[in-house]
Parts: sequence; C-alpha cells; structure tokens
Amino acid sequence: MFFKVLTDFVTGIITKTYTPKNKIYYSIAHSGECGAVSLNNISENTVSKNAFDGFKPVFSDVILVDLPLSKAIKYINTNATKDDLAIQIHFNSTSFEKCICGKNRYVGSICQNCNTKSEKYVKFGPLCIAWHTNRQLCANITYALNKLIPGQEFLLDQLIPDNTRSHNERPNCLAWPKLKCKSILIEAGFGCDPNFSHFIDNKDNQIEIGKTVGKVIKDFICKDI
Ligand SMILES: [Zn+2]
Ligand SMILES: [Zn+2]
Repeated sequence: MFFKVLTDFVTGIITKTYTPKNKIYYSIAHSGECGAVSLNNISENTVSKNAFDGFKPVFSDVILVDLPLSKAIKYINTNATKDDLAIQIHFNSTSFEKCICGKNRYVGSICQNCNTKSEKYVKFGPLCIAWHTNRQLCANITYALNKLIPGQEFLLDQLIPDNTRSHNERPNCLAWPKLKCKSILIEAGFGCDPNFSHFIDNKDNQIEIGKTVGKVIKDFICKDI
C-alpha cells in the first residue's frame, strides 16, 4: 500500500501542471475557538491562521473564510461551484488516559508530570482526509508534510477514500463532509507528539505548513481533482 501511494505521488508530480480554473476556499480551522493545543498550548486555530500566510502567496486569488464551521460551510456551499476546492488545516490530538501517577495524559504520549511512557502505541504524523476529492492529492500532501516536519512517521497507509476518521478515537469534524464542492481536511500532525509540538512552536514553521500544502495543491490541480 505504501509503495502504491508513493508511486502515485511520483506520477502525480511528473504528469500534472497547474491551470487556475478552480477557486480555492481556505477556511480557518476552529474559527472563533481554539481547537486542540500543542504541548506548549499553541492552538489549532493559531496554526491554521498563520498557515494561511504561507498559503496565500501560492494562491493569490484564494478566498479566506474565517467563520465558525457551520457558517463557513453555508458560505462555501452558497458561493462555490462543485469543482471548486475548500481546505482546512488542522492538527490532531489523541484522547486522554490516566497515567500511573494519577494525572491525565494524551494516549501515546509521555506523561508531562512523571515522564512515564504510555503503554499504548500511537502512530503520530500528518493525515490528509479526503472528502469529495482526490485520494492522490491527499497522498501528495501527506507525503510533503512528512518530509517537512522532522520525526514524522509515515501514515500513507492510512489514506482511505472518503475516510471520515482521524487518529482520534472518535470521528473527527463530522460537519466538513456536508460541503458540496471538493474538499480536503488536513491534520498536519499531533499536538501531543513532541516532534510536531516542537515544530509548531515556531511561527515560521506554521507558515511553512501552509506554503507546503499550497504548493502541493498548485502542482496537482489541473484536470481531475
Ligand atoms: Zn481541528
Ligand atoms: Zn504520570
């Protein structure tokens, strides 16, 4: 499965060129809220906003939507055609479990209180969830974020068309599939992953996430997203 997706990735880059026929809607994740946080309390909303600063130079005509989720979906459904693309950039968290010291910690993480390792193994890494769009584009974004963020594990084998789950234990963002246009939801990493958490402490890296995602989309879009 990994090899297959990697092959798709290579083919995609070589054979596709960008023609700007579709509009892109960049919807800020958790607008008006905070969402999940990194180990140092950097919020998903902050990362999503700063990532836009990297995304915008790639798509100068991108339409920014900074509205709470239900309003954002309404706005995009009213204005977008079915061939336009809406994206949101998030990051994940795992659920909580009780550490032996009695404190809560994220599943798979090291306890901030006593340094004990979780017994459950969690694969941390970016995940790009496809709804009404192209699996290969999602693979390309996941691959590019894996390369960008140090210490990420490959999650390409988790890419399933129309997958509605993240690595959270419950389905993530159930509202997003209500979009009528093509859409992608990107989980750039896990806030409770020390590597990712360290990476997004730096605002420049948040911007770099948006730039990377923008470039991959631009390289890919031509005829068949
Ligand atoms: Zn989120
Ligand atoms: Zn502990």
